[in-house]
Amino acid sequence: MTARVLVIDDILPNVKLLEAKLNGEYFEVITALSGPEGIQKAETRSPDIILLDVMMPGMDGYEVCRHLKNNPATTHIPIIMVTALTDATERVLGLEAGADDFLSKPVNDVALMARVRSLVRLKMTVDEWRVREATAGQFGFSPNRTSLFGESYEKARVLVIEDRDFESEKAVETLKRDEDVVTAVRSGGQGMALAQQTDFDIIVLSLNLAAEDGLRLCSQLRVNEPTRNVPILVVGEETDIQRIARALEIGAHDYILRPVDRNELLARVRTQVRRKRYQDRLRNNYATSLELALIDSLTGLYNRRYLMVHLEKLLKRRSESQKTLGILMLDIDHFKVVNDTYGHKVGDEVLKIFSERILQRVRGFDTVARLGGEEFIAILPDINLEMAIQVAERLRKGICETPFKVSVPGGSLDVGVSIGGVLIEAGSAPVEEAIRRADVELYRAKEAGRNRTYFEGVGMVTATMTDKSADPAAPATGAGST
Ligand code: GH3
Ligand code: MG
Ligand code: MG
Repeated sequence: MTARVLVIDDILPNVKLLEAKLNGEYFEVITALSGPEGIQKAETRSPDIILLDVMMPGMDGYEVCRHLKNNPATTHIPIIMVTALTDATERVLGLEAGADDFLSKPVNDVALMARVRSLVRLKMTVDEWRVREATAGQFGFSPNRTSLFGESYEKARVLVIEDRDFESEKAVETLKRDEDVVTAVRSGGQGMALAQQTDFDIIVLSLNLAAEDGLRLCSQLRVNEPTRNVPILVVGEETDIQRIARALEIGAHDYILRPVDRNELLARVRTQVRRKRYQDRLRNNYATSLELALIDSLTGLYNRRYLMVHLEKLLKRRSESQKTLGILMLDIDHFKVVNDTYGHKVGDEVLKIFSERILQRVRGFDTVARLGGEEFIAILPDINLEMAIQVAERLRKGICETPFKVSVPGGSLDVGVSIGGVLIEAGSAPVEEAIRRADVELYRAKEAGRNRTYFEGVGMVTATMTDKSADPAAPATGAGST
């Protein structure tokens, strides 16, 4: 694993020392000698992790930390504060400023590398979601601008796995201050069973269980699907530092040493809960934004926005691969009459059934979208003229031959559709141009009396053109629009 580390410290020998250690482990190091310079480099050089000195003239480490964590552009970068002060109160101050961890000077190499590696690994997951969110932004969705620091940490669901009564009670009592819902169990088995049913925000795990190996539990929690994304805070003795380093390697997010300082426990749990909630938010935003941005809510088909981006890609690939691409434009006949006679609700029912009927009659890799109103489009990649014509007619007949079951007196309506088709063959066609050509044919079908198909270069599609028993473009099993 390689990563870019930003070291911020006002004393040059300190910077050089950390730089040498990190270079020795093949990390790329950038340095800053003051808070403002550090902030500027954090914003412009995309570091994967920041080592931040606490005591600096002017802007101190806490202030730098708060600033970076409040900025949506840098909020996701893990920060380790490096300090000569090893007091629990100081650590809590730093954690409250948003720091992910603390290291005391002189820096212990094992602790430093374990921490840097585990935090960089955690950041990679967040980075992945940030990229996807940016992709969603390409479709017009404005990305999430909240900062990690703005997430709430209260009322977290906490699982404590600890077999010492005193320690367990202390944790439960402490976490109640944040109104956390704490479940305490004495064994990993009990913990695993509970975690299958409850979505915990964090698991506090003792590395000193009498009857079980905490490291093994840690790795089980990591591979087990329901707990895979739940942060783990391990609790150990100072003499356990090698095992703690191993736990971080396996995937624990953080650790705390005994005797557990209450404020520090609270601060570390808060940090992890915030991080998890931030990540959950990125993931959910991505899913809902994609759906909102790209799917037509009435019919479940892709919408125009998706279609335009997708068709552009297909057209580009087509001109590279020299394959043909069929485009069918479909428009319901006299749809306004349906609305005017039976109301908008019945109109919507027709649109839904209409969409289902198209989907059932195209291949799995064809794309169907609702362009708006009662106008639809089907994109048929890698298809020849005869097949495209047959698909068009199969769609038209499949739609008009069976009445639509909707809430009207009599229980059903006859619905017709006109279709304009075009086969994109040679050269490169811009999206708008391709759609316009299909539109021209659709217009001809309407002019000629509706409920018929017109194809570019062919004119009106007649029964003799499609009267072939073989239908090579029949849909594969099931229907789909992807
Ligand atoms: P043509 O045969 O020439 O296509 O005539 P038409 O009546 O189908 O076409 P026109 O463009 O005149 O009317 C389309 C109607 O579709 C008008 C509009 O109220 C209706 N419409 C558009 N979107 C929706 C929708 O989401 N739900 C419902 N129920 N109606 C819609
Ligand atoms: Mg200093
Ligand atoms: Mg119409």
